[in-house]
Amino acid sequence: MNNPVSRLAPSPTGALHLGNARTFVINWAMARKRDWKLLLRIEDLDGPRVKPHAIEETLDILSWLGMDHDGEPIRQSTDLEPYRKAMEELTEKQLAYTCSLSRKEIKQASTAPHKGEHDLRYPSHLRPDHAEAFQFGAQDTNYRLIVSDEVVYIHDGFAISREFHPFSEVGDFVIWTRRNLPAYQLAVVVDDARQGVTDVVRGDDLQPSAARQELLYQALGLSSPHWWHLPLVLGPDGRRLAKRHGDTRISSYRDQGVSVERIIGLLAFWSGIGEIHKEMSITDFLSAFSLSSLDPNPITFTEEDHAWLIGR
Ligand code: GLU
Repeated sequence: MNNPVSRLAPSPTGALHLGNARTFVINWAMARKRDWKLLLRIEDLDGPRVKPHAIEETLDILSWLGMDHDGEPIRQSTDLEPYRKAMEELTEKQLAYTCSLSRKEIKQASTAPHKGEHDLRYPSHLRPDHAEAFQFGAQDTNYRLIVSDEVVYIHDGFAISREFHPFSEVGDFVIWTRRNLPAYQLAVVVDDARQGVTDVVRGDDLQPSAARQELLYQALGLSSPHWWHLPLVLGPDGRRLAKRHGDTRISSYRDQGVSVERIIGLLAFWSGIGEIHKEMSITDFLSAFSLSSLDPNPITFTEEDHAWLIGR
């Protein structure tokens, strides 16, 4: 039997910070402990948001921290053909269609109130019923997946397994964008399938996306991977760690002279191993790591953590 396959999939829309580094180090340790192959995939399709140098910086930081991977990294933007093929298949099967409506128009056509831009649900009555709509070509328009009205159960290896209902949560979601590029949901499914990924480990903010991705796997006649969604690192205000919480980029800490052992020491404590504010090598991290020690609740990055990292 082949070894399971997992992947690190950084998006170079921002630099690697303490939050993504924690997810990655756990993914890396799971792979190395369990004899999984670990691929590296740079998710650089989000054109305007991709930051110059972020790819090189991410690769450099991963290796500085001591996280290796197997094989050459792939960059999504270098070959769009596999995504186009998937789109042809979906349109041929009449499972996807073009949509040129703006967010404003969709909002106006929605009857149910929604919580925010991200929760904008595409109402099914806007779905076209004419056959010409089902053809994939280079048009500057979005394509949406026909989302069936079914409950999707996400069996999760770490987070609480849950039911989702993409039909009422998002409706027909965009899988190809008007910039003539695949949307995240499509790209990730096509890549995980073609790279033979059997185990996806990532932040639990993506668990609802797993349900959408399950629908895409079904539509493309592919089998889906095992899901492992990990709790996030939050800022002191309880929101997902991000720029608003100050500069938590690993590269900035490195520039300030913070050692790898200090960073790993903090990530280790956040992974349920080691003591608070104690340095650790990546090798010791790997020997001590066990998924069963991981707290299922989110971690909070505190002022004290920052002060300890920079040696105050
Ligand atoms: N590239 C995505 C991110 O950085 C992760 C996608 C995934 O793991 O499915 O958020």
